[in-house]
Amino acid sequence: MTQTLEPTTGTEPSAARTRVETWLADFEAALAARDVDRAAGLFATTSFWRDLIAFTWNFTTVENRDGVADLARQTRESTGATNSRITEGEEPEEADGVVTAWFRFETAVGRGSGLLRLNDEGAWTFLTTLDELKGHEENQGTNRPRGVEHGAQKDRVTWRERRTAELEGFGRDREPYVVVIGGGQGGIALGARLRQLGVDHVVVDRHARPGDQWRSRYKSLCLHDPVWYDHLPYLPFPRNWPVFAPKDKIGDWLEMYTRVMEVNYWGSTTAKSATWDDAKKEWTVTVDRDGEEVVLHPKQLVFALGVSGKPNIPSIPGQDVFAGEQHHSSQHPGPDAYKDKRVVVIGSNNSAFDICGALWEIGADVTMVQRSSTHIVKSDSLMEIGLGGLYSEQAVEAGVTTHKADTIFASLPYRIMHEFQIPLYQQMAERDKDFYQRLEESGFRHDWGADGSGLFMKYLRRGSGYYIDVGAADLVADGKIPVKHGQVTELTETGVKLANGEELPADLVVYATGYGSMNGLAADIVGDEIADRVGKVWGLGSDTTKDPGPWEGEQRNMWKPTQQEGLWFHGGNLHQSRYYSLYLALQLKARAEGIPTPVYGLQEVHHTS
Ligand SMILES: Cc1cc2nc3c(=O)[nH]c(=O)nc-3n(C[C@H](O)[C@H](O)[C@H](O)COP(=O)(O)OP(=O)(O)OC[C@H]3O[C@@H](n4cnc5c(N)ncnc54)[C@H](O)[C@@H]3O)c2cc1C
Repeated sequence: MTQTLEPTTGTEPSAARTRVETWLADFEAALAARDVDRAAGLFATTSFWRDLIAFTWNFTTVENRDGVADLARQTRESTGATNSRITEGEEPEEADGVVTAWFRFETAVGRGSGLLRLNDEGAWTFLTTLDELKGHEENQGTNRPRGVEHGAQKDRVTWRERRTAELEGFGRDREPYVVVIGGGQGGIALGARLRQLGVDHVVVDRHARPGDQWRSRYKSLCLHDPVWYDHLPYLPFPRNWPVFAPKDKIGDWLEMYTRVMEVNYWGSTTAKSATWDDAKKEWTVTVDRDGEEVVLHPKQLVFALGVSGKPNIPSIPGQDVFAGEQHHSSQHPGPDAYKDKRVVVIGSNNSAFDICGALWEIGADVTMVQRSSTHIVKSDSLMEIGLGGLYSEQAVEAGVTTHKADTIFASLPYRIMHEFQIPLYQQMAERDKDFYQRLEESGFRHDWGADGSGLFMKYLRRGSGYYIDVGAADLVADGKIPVKHGQVTELTETGVKLANGEELPADLVVYATGYGSMNGLAADIVGDEIADRVGKVWGLGSDTTKDPGPWEGEQRNMWKPTQQEGLWFHGGNLHQSRYYSLYLALQLKARAEGIPTPVYGLQEVHHTS
């Protein structure tokens, strides 16, 4: 979705400005009067209020006047809004009968902002976010830390000494308030937020160095998303950063970032178990830190284990008799050792294509096995049509900051997001129609998602089923990488047998079969009982493949309170990790400070994994 964000000039308030000011004042007054019906009446018949912790201490989207009334009724004793106003320098604008306005407001405990879209009936979409807690603002700008105490001091403690004491003290002379298990980009970004908010935390990862999870992936991997989409909080990539960063470069950036953002990071540390003491309201987390057992007692435990964390390795008869090499895509070292070898890659999504492409380049005889259809979109088309309005050099030049882009994205309710996506993918289909025709003629089974809404909805719903084409799809479309169809029924000593009886000789079999739910990784640490209580992680309840209903309204269990007190999930792509880490960190900070956080609409659990 693109918007013009240039302010208009003139001295008279525009009709759009007057309408927004009136709406904000009416809404504030209705909440102050506890007049739920009046508040709900300010919304259109079909409408969406998405709140990120400002009113609900939850990630919630309510729909229509009934939903608004319910949210307002249940939160009215704890939350209201004051000082609601149009954001300075952001003139509301009107297009196609919809007025769009950026606004700010305050609650009793914090300051927030949002994006409002009014149609002729009232509010159509309304996003509210809590951005900071009063009295606990981040020390930035004029409030930045001094870094030094001038003057003469006996036994002066240096920054380095303080940092070492802090890092080494956990589990010995002090307890972290938060333990984050998983120090990939998600855990690191959250650690940076917690540091800025002054929350005692430690991020643990079984890898030795921050960034190792990217370094350990197959060697040809570069980010599939462009730089404008990928910034980390506080410290954007420099202006000469490549559009698609190679994985080792991202690994190095994450390592540097961890250090300069003063994230408390324990590498070579594997979380073994975590148990919850309901009387003490505290976790006991046992970790193996480089061979030493350390027990931590945090109040809050965050799993940042990776949505693509637990490899799905199929169990196939004959895996024990196959004489060649076999491994999951996450263990694939890259193509170098496989020149002139026969390789069968089982799977037809991102990793399968990247691996097949690199193997073909080095001269391996590679075959892809497709089991179900895949959505493919050309990287250039995705960049220009799908992301360009918000995340591109042109968007930056038009004044769309990363935060603005993230907020616009967040303001689109999941329920109708596909309606915005479908036309974009129709444009891509038209633009690349020759490619799709060749692909179809090659026999490759291609889809556009359950409702034609393409890649991003597939990602949000199931986190799989697509490939952003950076070249390898042409090899398939041109028949240079042959594709076979159907389930693999058996591995023989010399190859792979398909359901139709065909046998594919192989020296190497790669299982590019994706990843399991983060719930499965969590179960290994907290046990099945807690994992089942919390339920499936990720997905929207869209009732499409791998995302069973009922409709959830928000992504299951991500960044928000779960059915297990003190247990949270964080992750996603770099964009989600950047944006939502703020709201997760603020939830943790509020609890650390003893600020009441009554949760509206705690999600029910419909699926265990
Ligand atoms: C091949 C591939 C390409 C991708 N390309 C992109 C892209 O272009 N852009 C994008 O935004 N996203 C991309 N993603 C998706 C996603 O952004 C990455 O998977 C990213 O690494 C997720 O970050 P994370 O921190 O959530 O999880 P991870 O990076 O998976 O980190 C999880 C960490 O948890 C640790 N861990 C697990 N169990 C334990 C334990 N018991 N104790 C201690 N530590 C533990 C692991 O060591 C790991 O470091 C890609 C994913 C894959 C697999």
